[in-house]
Amino acid sequence: MGTKRDYYEVLGVRRDAPSSELKKNYRKLAIQYHPDKNPGDKEAEEKFKEAAEAYEVLSDNKKRQIYDQYGHQGLEGAGFSGSRGFDDIFSSFGDIFEDFFGFSSGRRRSGNRARRGSDLRYDLSLDFMEAAFGTERKIDIEKAETCPTCGGNGCESGKNPEVCQYCGGSGQATRSQGFFTVSTTCPSCNGRGKKINHPCPECKGAGQVLVSKTVSVKIPAGVDSGSRLRLSGEGETGVGGPPGDLYVFIDVKPHKHFSRNNTDVISTVQISFIQAAIGDNIQVQTLEGEETFSIPKGTQYGETFRLQGKGIPSLRGYGRGDQIIQVQILTPTNLNKKQIAILNDFSRLESDKFKNKLKNILKGNVAK
Ligand SMILES: [Zn+2]
Ligand SMILES: [Zn+2]
Repeated sequence: MGTKRDYYEVLGVRRDAPSSELKKNYRKLAIQYHPDKNPGDKEAEEKFKEAAEAYEVLSDNKKRQIYDQYGHQGLEGAGFSGSRGFDDIFSSFGDIFEDFFGFSSGRRRSGNRARRGSDLRYDLSLDFMEAAFGTERKIDIEKAETCPTCGGNGCESGKNPEVCQYCGGSGQATRSQGFFTVSTTCPSCNGRGKKINHPCPECKGAGQVLVSKTVSVKIPAGVDSGSRLRLSGEGETGVGGPPGDLYVFIDVKPHKHFSRNNTDVISTVQISFIQAAIGDNIQVQTLEGEETFSIPKGTQYGETFRLQGKGIPSLRGYGRGDQIIQVQILTPTNLNKKQIAILNDFSRLESDKFKNKLKNILKGNVAK
């Protein structure tokens, strides 16, 4: 305990240093002694831990106050234990390393350094029947995956990313202008703080490569235009984090006989005015083929009939919509003389019916 170095000395700052300076110096030390850069070096490991401990205390106002007043003993008295493992350090200060080591650190398991892969979108056009009853489709997607040659660090085999010499790893180039300090993104490393001087020949330093993949998508019965299917984990590979998801956006092509209103299927039948007047058995097309339907007598133009359970299966997995038949009545054209004569007779009968009715009303009888 007595051999512990002064925290300000460890970080190389004055006792009144502002937190920005603490952070800056800690970053420098953390990069210098980072275990990835000093594999197997016990002394570097100790220095790395020592710097993390010093920074943890001094970056926390309360702990810093205790330390300023009572020193190391004061902190122990307050219950702060200084010894910490690497994982602890990475989970507490992950953001410090983020800019510097990016995806190459290999110590990204812990918490905030992980980055989830991007989600992907695929637009899938389906036939009306495929959407109604479901299907299975193979789709080809292109997505970024961890480069198999370099394992994601972007470097030639045996090499690691190096701290950018230009900005010292901060990713920022600062320059003084009178009273002001102007910070710009480091032009040498584009703000990443590190440089890959020996890029991997396969990914050219990106750490990821685009791969083509065929994904099998199960389309459930009942999807419609605007439906969105999520294939968990089929998105792009994450950087230390889980992969993203693949979203399949459905678009359903129109059908020449059917249209759709949620789970109901709508179709139109054309019948003659005679069928409408006296009724008939007609063939109607359903999703599952032709079926006989009885048109009742006295059917009007635009009237609708419902075939229960002949619609689209519900996406929820139970029940089906109906088929709705809309009736259109065709007026005959090109009638021959005989047909016209018959229709004239029919017309006279209709007007006789009307006159009789009128007569009854005038007589005071109740019209039926
Ligand atoms: Zn590579
Ligand atoms: Zn730089």
